[in-house]
This record gives sequence, C-alpha cells and structure tokens, in this order.
Amino acid sequence: MPTAPTYPTIRTEIAGASVAKLASEFGTPTFVYDAAVIARRMADLAAFDVVRYAVKACSNLAVLDRIRRLGGLVDTVSAFEIRRAMAAGYAARGTPPPIVFTADVFDAASLDLVVREGVHVNCGSPDMIDQYGRLASGRAITLRINPGFGHGHSRKTNTGGDQSKHGIWHAELGACLARAKKHGLDVTGLHMHIGSGADMDHLAQVCQAMERAALEAGPGIHSVSAGGGLPIPYQSGESYVDLAAYHALWDATRKRLEQSFGHAVRLEVEPGRYLVAECGYLVTEIRAVKRQGDRLFYLVDAGFNNLARPILYGAYHPMSIVPGDGNANRPEHDVIVGGPLCESGDVFTQEEGGYVVPRRLPEAAVGELLVIECAGAYGAAMGSNYNSKPMAAEVLLLDGRARLVRRRQTFEELIQAESIPG
Ligand SMILES: *Cc1c(COP(=O)(O)O)cnc(C)c1O
Repeated sequence: MPTAPTYPTIRTEIAGASVAKLASEFGTPTFVYDAAVIARRMADLAAFDVVRYAVKACSNLAVLDRIRRLGGLVDTVSAFEIRRAMAAGYAARGTPPPIVFTADVFDAASLDLVVREGVHVNCGSPDMIDQYGRLASGRAITLRINPGFGHGHSRKTNTGGDQSKHGIWHAELGACLARAKKHGLDVTGLHMHIGSGADMDHLAQVCQAMERAALEAGPGIHSVSAGGGLPIPYQSGESYVDLAAYHALWDATRKRLEQSFGHAVRLEVEPGRYLVAECGYLVTEIRAVKRQGDRLFYLVDAGFNNLARPILYGAYHPMSIVPGDGNANRPEHDVIVGGPLCESGDVFTQEEGGYVVPRRLPEAAVGELLVIECAGAYGAAMGSNYNSKPMAAEVLLLDGRARLVRRRQTFEELIQAESIPG
C-alpha cells in the first residue's frame, strides 16, 4: 500500500515536465495526464483477474489506449462510450468481454449497438432484460444487483439502497432470472457497484450479499464484479485504501462460490477514479487577484465547465502555485479560488452545500499558473461548453514527452451542430 501523499502547494514540474513550458506550448486551461501514474495504479490491482476501467471517469482515447496496453478491459455506460472504446482498440466481443455495457436503461442507440456488435450487457433493470432478450436471445448477460443498502461519499454518489436508482433490487433476483430464462438469455455473472472501497466492515456486508445472490442464481454464475468506488487520497495525509484487505474479502467470497459451484469464478474490479484521478493535473492561469472585504480571491481561467466536482459535491482538490520567479519561499494566505463563469458557484474551494472555504496557498500574481491536482477522474469527462467555453486541451506525458491528445475546441467546432432557420 503506498504511503499517504503530501501534496505540495508550490510546484514547477509535473513528472519532470516544466509546468511553465507545458502552459506556453499548449495554453491554459489544459489537463495534463501522467501515464506513469496510470501504470502504477493498474499494477496495484494486479491480484484481480480482470481490471475493468469505468470509461466515464476519463474517456480520452489516449487514456483508454494506455489502459488497454496495460491489460485493462472497460466498462461503458452509453453507445458513444462503447464506440470510444472500440476507437481505442478494444474488440467488441471476446472472453472475458473486453467491453461491458452497464446501465439501468437502454436508449435506442445503445440497444441497437450492443445487439449489432455483440457487446456484453450488464443489466440494471428488469426492463433491460426484456428489451435485450427480445432481440438477442441466446446471449450471455450479467446482472447488476442492488443489495438493498448503499455507501457513498455524498447523497449524489450513493449507488445502493432504496434511494438509489441503480441495479436490480436484490429481492427481484429470482424473478429476473426467470425473465432471462424465458428470453433464452444466459445469466453468467453478477455485479455490485455500491462504492464501499475504504470501509472493510461495509465491504464484508457487500461480499455476503454477493454470495447470497450468487448462490441463489446457482452454478451458471462464472463471474462476480466488485464494481468500482475505490477511493484515492484527495488531501495530504489521507491514506490509500487497503487493497490487500479489499482483495482478500472478495477473493474469499469468490473461492467459496467456486467450492460450491465446482468451477472457476472470475473476480473483476471496476475502478474509475482509482486508475486516473491522481494522474491528472488541471493547469490554469491566474487572471485576477482581488480582495472582497477581508477575503482574497485568485480567479483562474478554468471554471466548473472544466472541473465540476467542487460545485457538484463540494469535492476537495489539492492546488499548487507555479512561481514565475522560481521563488518557492513565499508567504501564504487564505485564498478563495474561483473561475471565470457567470455563476457565483464557480468556486473550486467549496464544501458540500456551497460553503466557500479558503485555502492556504502561496502568494501569487496575475499571469502565474495555478495547478488543480488529482483532476484526472471526472474532470475533462464532465467538461461542458457552459458560457460557450471551449473544451480544454488534454496532454499525455508519456516516456518523457508531452503529447497533445485532445486539442482545445475551436469556435467553429463549438457551433458546428447549430443552424439558424432561413
Ligand atoms: C461510475 C462507475 C464505476 C467507477 O466508479 P469510481 O468511483 O470512479 O471507481 C464503476 N462501475 C460502474 C457501474 C459505475 O457506474
């Protein structure tokens, strides 16, 4: 288990690359991804039979390509995520399935695509079983089960229990197995994604719920998925999840099922954040330094159109200043860091509920760079064009070189799909 990180408040480099050079070459705001971090995080999970990356966390093709080269498979939630995975070199079908589609509903495009390409479907509602079964009789499916309880760092991220819209309610498993059978669908695996990576007591309950469900489904079950939800330390001093303990609980569950079924059961894990959060840095430029009463504000050129986690969840991200003069010994101040959007919630230093929390940061001037760290997961992927801001550039640091893997969106691209009726 890696030791708890200490995030710096002054930095000049990202993985050996000068932040100033990156900003002058690619402009700001720009996401910078350190490929070596993705490789380390993949290696941490090597004890699992399959590491299935949740594409939604960061769906850039170059990131998907890195994960594929490291042996990772993918989980997708939409037709275009499936097409992204295929564009990044994943085969549509295979054993184990390279691409899984996990959802609670099909839209017309996703249903059509999974039927046509043979992409494996993980059904999160009885209706999905019917809709798929009518078109794809004979195929294998897995079921996403809601065990009746949840866990999560916010009401908005809780993925189990009766407040959650996700998964097939545990008590309906029997009825859903019958439904699948009626359609000639083969239920080959079960999945639970309820975000309980750090709490081992809770995880033990999840494993028990999985075991019960799998025993109910019987020896047709050949895979179990632990889902995602592995946390990362977003603050200095926070520790990493005990992956050995996490794996041990799931592995014991899987082994008991193997005993009872008399055949192998594949153990999958489905991280998004864990693989990509720490690799990502959002490089911004400070465009205003101003006081409002007693408060000091740094306003940067990135907003919640680039990184929405603070406004959505009150999420904390480490931040650092890149000193233009190289002086690392600056006095520190309590600062509120905000963006350019015409919206008072456009603040990166806030708690859940929207309460602004100042951050202790080094003195900085207009024109200097501010880096928002641990921004690889649910950063660019949640980007929007709000205020007609272009999608940020994305850069991958790979083998000592910085490669542009998404250029900044242009005005022409921004308005491309629109038209004025004649
Ligand atoms: C979002 C999601 C994940 C990944 O969640 P993280 O918290 O980023 O690890 C995994 N599986 C499913 C089904 C998801 O919806």
